[in-house]
Amino acid sequence: MNLSLDVLHLPLRDPFRIARHEDDRQATTVIVDIEMAGSRGLGEAYPTAYYGETVGTVAAVIPALAEAVDALGDPPLKEREAALLWLAAADAAMARVVGRNGGAKAGLDIALHDLVARGLGMPLHELLGTPAEIPPTDFSIGIDTPDVVAQRAARAARFPALKIKCGGPDDLETLEKVRAVYGGPIRVDANTGWTADSAERLLPELIRLGVELIEQPFPATDFARLRWLQERSSLPIVTDESSETEADLERLVGVVAAVNVKLMKCGGVGPALRMMRRARELGFKVMLGCMEETSVGIAAAAAVAGLADWVDLDGNLLLADDPFSGLELDETCRWVLPRTPGLGIERARGRVEKTVDNFVDEAPSEVSAPRRTMTGTG
Ligand SMILES: [Mg+2]
Repeated sequence: MNLSLDVLHLPLRDPFRIARHEDDRQATTVIVDIEMAGSRGLGEAYPTAYYGETVGTVAAVIPALAEAVDALGDPPLKEREAALLWLAAADAAMARVVGRNGGAKAGLDIALHDLVARGLGMPLHELLGTPAEIPPTDFSIGIDTPDVVAQRAARAARFPALKIKCGGPDDLETLEKVRAVYGGPIRVDANTGWTADSAERLLPELIRLGVELIEQPFPATDFARLRWLQERSSLPIVTDESSETEADLERLVGVVAAVNVKLMKCGGVGPALRMMRRARELGFKVMLGCMEETSVGIAAAAAVAGLADWVDLDGNLLLADDPFSGLELDETCRWVLPRTPGLGIERARGRVEKTVDNFVDEAPSEVSAPRRTMTGTG
């Protein structure tokens, strides 16, 4: 195949701080462009340092993955079943090259899915046979002062659910202030930032405030504490950092009620689809999440979102500018699946009208002022 990688540094719309330290000002992502068998595909590899990936590892791993896929020969682009078998074989070949590296694998897996679906002349969800009806996405707000978080929540009030990042000292005050301005379900994500004491203290307050679920309260491998909290909690505990790939699911049975699946953790469309199906078999509820990806990664995830109970696909909405066009939210905050072949995504010519501007009100000047004082000390 012909392969090209393009590293993009994209400023975020608002600082996006979480309990674990990560760059809260800009997203760095790798766009994958491939040509094979007379078709083209666009993919995205978003490296997350927490999972051991950087631009450097992605740039080193993807060519090795491409070599393994090339050894399979060209994909059959005449018949859907044969094409799906080839895509599954490509994922298996990538898995044999290296473990983990979910972002790098997702980059090539997404591009291959786009290429095959384009070659067959069908939208990706049609190729996969996934439900066209998908739940609406929530909108995520990073850690900040309680007043700033509440102002951002008020601006995003059109979203049917909000995900509020927690794990700071002001969690309860923040959630009280958000609840005062927003009536819908609130999803809380502590990104491993709580102790048993803080969780026990907060739990009755979260129930009182109408919180819908609690995501990753404790460190990824602290299964005993996760189980302890789930046993006390009427709210589902959802793992994210604990559930990186399908291989992580079995040990979470009887520990938590739900798992967050992300293409950039498990390795793309094919692995995410298999992980979601396996999670359902094991009795978990399923969230489908994302990193701060462009529309390329979000469109790939949207193609499998019909299998999720909760959709958290807002990465491209958190970017100040998305360099791709073709993906739109409908008025109920559901991603519109494409009618065109593949992902339905193209590189934008000129400036893209930001989808998010139809859904998140512009910040009044007193809200944008504190941006200068934000630091990345999460
Ligand atoms: Mg999370």
